[in-house]
Amino acid sequence: MVRTKEQYIKDLGRMKSNLYYDGKEIDRLDELQMPCLNTIGTTFDVFDDPEFKDLIQVKSHLTGEIINRFTHIHHNTDDLHKKQDMTRKFCQRVGRCIQRCMGCDAANAIYNVSYEADKINKGETNYHENFKKWLLRFQQKDLVAAGAQTDVKGDRSKRPADQADPDMYVHVVERKKDGIIVAGCKLHISEASVSDELLVIPTRALRPEDKDYAVAFAVPGDYEGVTQVVTIHNLREREHFPRGFVPGFTDSYLIFDDVFVPWERVFLCGEHQHGGTLALLFGLFHRHSYSGCKPAVGDIITGTAALAAEYNNIARASHVRKKLAELILVTELGYAAGYTASDLGKPEVFVPGVGFVPYGPGSFIPNSIYCNVGRCLTGENVFREAEIITDISGGIPATFPHEKDFVNPKYKDKLYKYITRNPKIAPENAAQLWRYIGDMLCSATGGIHLIGGYHGGGSPVMEEIAISSQYDIEARKNMVKAIAGIDDKLNKKRLDIK
Ligand SMILES: Cc1cc2nc3c(=O)[nH]c(=O)nc-3n(C[C@H](O)[C@H](O)[C@H](O)COP(=O)(O)OP(=O)(O)OC[C@H]3O[C@@H](n4cnc5c(N)ncnc54)[C@H](O)[C@@H]3O)c2cc1C
Repeated sequence: MVRTKEQYIKDLGRMKSNLYYDGKEIDRLDELQMPCLNTIGTTFDVFDDPEFKDLIQVKSHLTGEIINRFTHIHHNTDDLHKKQDMTRKFCQRVGRCIQRCMGCDAANAIYNVSYEADKINKGETNYHENFKKWLLRFQQKDLVAAGAQTDVKGDRSKRPADQADPDMYVHVVERKKDGIIVAGCKLHISEASVSDELLVIPTRALRPEDKDYAVAFAVPGDYEGVTQVVTIHNLREREHFPRGFVPGFTDSYLIFDDVFVPWERVFLCGEHQHGGTLALLFGLFHRHSYSGCKPAVGDIITGTAALAAEYNNIARASHVRKKLAELILVTELGYAAGYTASDLGKPEVFVPGVGFVPYGPGSFIPNSIYCNVGRCLTGENVFREAEIITDISGGIPATFPHEKDFVNPKYKDKLYKYITRNPKIAPENAAQLWRYIGDMLCSATGGIHLIGGYHGGGSPVMEEIAISSQYDIEARKNMVKAIAGIDDKLNKKRLDIK
């Protein structure tokens, strides 16, 4: 069954309260969460919309039923292309992050890793079947899941088992006959406060002594022992001049206070190598999602910069054209990288020093190099994009008078007169654009998006590590040696003499 937005909201309304915001307990349907619910709600609203239908509707490989692609496991390159295009289209619609990809990315990663872990454990574990049962319900009930990867991490110079406090990474406290007890805290977890389920996975590569940190599981968002401390990023409310779409976002600290997880909801427990792979694979799927959302944000930024230039009547200036070209270049290169990652997708992962090896039960994994170069390029450009809009707009969004000034009969006409720049543009529309850019750059929400755009999906340094460790630099060195006429035998001779 696919849900409507109303059913999704109703289901959240039935959950127990474990959300805290600004010192107070709040309900899932608190007014403050509504803009966020409306944003994710779009993914339910357009299920039959001819513009979205072909991208969002997909056949489940488990049941053959038509499900929402946000709950799907990719099974061919077309799935990967459609995931990328669907993400771009949704983000264009809401003007920012669509917020439903984390659960899908975590599900795809766990689907593969749980299979490999069972294989190595020679049938002693049941992680993959456990996960498939969870996935079936996820698909059939059309659920929203948060992807909870990032641990608080305490002292960055120490690995999980070396931390003074073991709770700095979510870990297994006790293994019991019927399940495990986990403790710790995941932070920055987007949309956990509006998710039906929380998919919890490790954050980083793990050593044998970190085995208790190699844990993956799912619990409902309101589960016993889980406390969510939520930050809610809403725009300043408008009374007189509403926006066309009002997005909202939330992020949670998820505190796990000795939480019991039954075995059927555990997908990894103690296999340190697989814990590291799961962390990397989630990062990979999530960076592939970024190849849809970042180009959409690029589309919005480009449109905003072009409108600001038009409304300032400087659209023909050569520096404006150059800056628009720069925005388009990053946007489309980010998309092209994702497109290539989709096209080269296969049921394989790249192992440094070995190359591509078959991985998982046959579902498709996007190409790692292209996911990482695309996300790194677009992630590093978020502040440059903000700089370009700041440059083209001038100072007006920063000091733009508040709404009520534009309805005060004493001086509103004067204000409209003094904000007129392009005679072809109605000052009322110009005012809407400057308010919109103010939301984008001069609000608390705008700042959060910049940090999220930079670090979300992994900081650029993480992508740089993935790129440089997986790229075949030796092959490039060999190309140059051949062209330059370098003979490695001479080096060898020199070493032999020493
Ligand atoms: C708005 C927003 C939404 C997010 N949503 C989600 C989500 O839904 N789910 C999720 O799991 N995560 C989410 N994240 C988390 C995101 O993936 C992390 O912020 C990112 O991986 C960086 O981790 P960090 O914040 O702990 O920074 P850190 O890793 O602490 O990075 C800070 C600096 O320290 C450096 N550093 C860290 N460790 C070392 C080391 N050992 N040696 C040398 N240098 C080091 C880093 O390179 C960086 O320069 C979100 C983040 C934001 C901002």
